[in-house]
Amino acid sequence: MLDQRLKKVATYIAGNTLVDIGSDHAYLPIYAVKNNIAARAICGEVVKGPYDSTVENIKSHALSDKIEARFGSGLEVVSHEDEIDTITICGMGGPLISDILNSGFENVNGKPRLVLQPNTHSYPIRKTLVNLGYSITDETVIRNGRHFYEIIVAEEGDAFYDEKALMFGPVLLEKRESAFIEKLDRELEHQKRILANLEINSANQEKIQEVREKVNLLEEVL
Ligand code: SAM
Repeated sequence: MLDQRLKKVATYIAGNTLVDIGSDHAYLPIYAVKNNIAARAICGEVVKGPYDSTVENIKSHALSDKIEARFGSGLEVVSHEDEIDTITICGMGGPLISDILNSGFENVNGKPRLVLQPNTHSYPIRKTLVNLGYSITDETVIRNGRHFYEIIVAEEGDAFYDEKALMFGPVLLEKRESAFIEKLDRELEHQKRILANLEINSANQEKIQEVREKVNLLEEVL
């Protein structure tokens, strides 16, 4: 039921109470509770169809006493009365995950662990984490066929990251896992193709310079 991506996310869940935002089918909270990774969970979902599927799946697994579905956007579904140990936000773009954290964090009691899995653009997430008083404690990349998924784990703490770390991930840069290197290799080939195309077909020197800098940065990291 649970794909490799969410199984890996589940390994980072800590404590009794999990909040999963954008739960959709609720596979992650169901797996976490069934496997005693979390004692209970709250699922937040803002779209009616996925919310109904959350409710339905919780019921069909007979977990209504341990998993609660709440309808609403982002962190507006939680309040200071909820004692939360881990928040997961997975399978969305980085800018959306970042917006969810920025616009609703005042509803969160304390600083639970955050486990975030952006499908794209993790840069804004890392910036937001620093602004919210979090430091990145772990990161990994999961490869599934042609897709690469980043997972970012953050805990309360002060941190400063330079532009390179915000872009590529401070822990990913340190660990240099093979999936991370493969992801960057593919990105480098992609940017090189864009650059070659621009150099032949475009007079936009600013754009050409921008892509050239991306290529240089990727080559430097690799
Ligand atoms: N988290 C699951 C996973 O990783 O497989 C589902 C990912 S699904 C692609 C994204 C889900 O997030 C959708 O069900 C969508 O309705 C929900 N979503 C998008 N924006 C949201 C928001 N602001 N608050 C709560 N849910 C949101």
